[in-house]
Amino acid sequence: MKEIRLKALAKINLGLDVVGKREDGYHEVRMIMQTIKLYDEIEIHKADKPGIRVKTNLQYLPVNENNLVYKAAQLLMDEFGISKGVSIKLRKVIPVAAGMAGGSSDAAAVLVGLNRMFELGLTKQELMERGVKIGADVPYCVMRGTALAEGIGEKLTKLPPMPKCSLLIAKPGIHVSTKFVYSNLKADQLAEHPDIDGQIQALRDGDLRRLASLMGNVLETVTIPAYPVIGEIKEEMLNCGAAGAMMSGSGPTVFGLFEDKEQARAAYERLRRGSLARQVYLTRVFNNGGAV
Ligand code: ATP
Repeated sequence: MKEIRLKALAKINLGLDVVGKREDGYHEVRMIMQTIKLYDEIEIHKADKPGIRVKTNLQYLPVNENNLVYKAAQLLMDEFGISKGVSIKLRKVIPVAAGMAGGSSDAAAVLVGLNRMFELGLTKQELMERGVKIGADVPYCVMRGTALAEGIGEKLTKLPPMPKCSLLIAKPGIHVSTKFVYSNLKADQLAEHPDIDGQIQALRDGDLRRLASLMGNVLETVTIPAYPVIGEIKEEMLNCGAAGAMMSGSGPTVFGLFEDKEQARAAYERLRRGSLARQVYLTRVFNNGGAV
């Protein structure tokens, strides 16, 4: 195999709770992860010249070992002593540094791609074990679908698939650092915790409305006061008929769940025309097995 094309899918969190802080400073989380059909495109070409070359459509992204696709390729190539080279073309669509695991998903796709290209024979589980060395979200991005993530996000339990719906994604034109969010979170003083177990039950029952009504992300206690536009986008989505709207991960991207396609489209047009969001996408849920 000389070349391979892959889709690196984004994720949203349907619920995000912080349940404690470890001695090493990391927060213990309980999150419901869901893969969505918004993706980056990755092309890997085998080359005779050794080394890893990365090209991307976003000039501000690193193309050296600081890019997660580079790290993923290096990890497998070192382990398996691959002497050939690879060139990786990355077309980014997933908003960057936005709580959608874009970089982690790119890394996961490269692990999957190189495993096939060089016939390394690694199972999904073995790829996930390697992925965690790159980032806590990478194993989930290899696994895909609906899952409960615990620990620092790397302990995964598969959940029943989320019911189909339209998803509206909107990222305001602000930059929110994950470090800022977690260091300002008062984890032991949270007045409310999302009902993650209730959401799991709603998934078992295939009850989208209940799932949406239980959505909650404790990180909003930091981001919404600091960046009110996040709350304003949520309001806008709910006013447009969303069954639920929430910030994904540490933000600043907000997503809305819509049962009605037409309402979702109207909300999409409204947000595109307005000034609250810089990047707006209309997409759907991805569950394993379905076409992307
Ligand atoms: P998460 O949801 O896991 O917190 P995120 O959406 O907040 O992820 P990413 O888009 O994955 O964040 O990337 C954050 C940072 O990582 C960026 O500032 C960028 O410089 C760096 N980075 C390295 N490789 C990539 C990549 N392939 N795609 C995007 N960002 C990358």
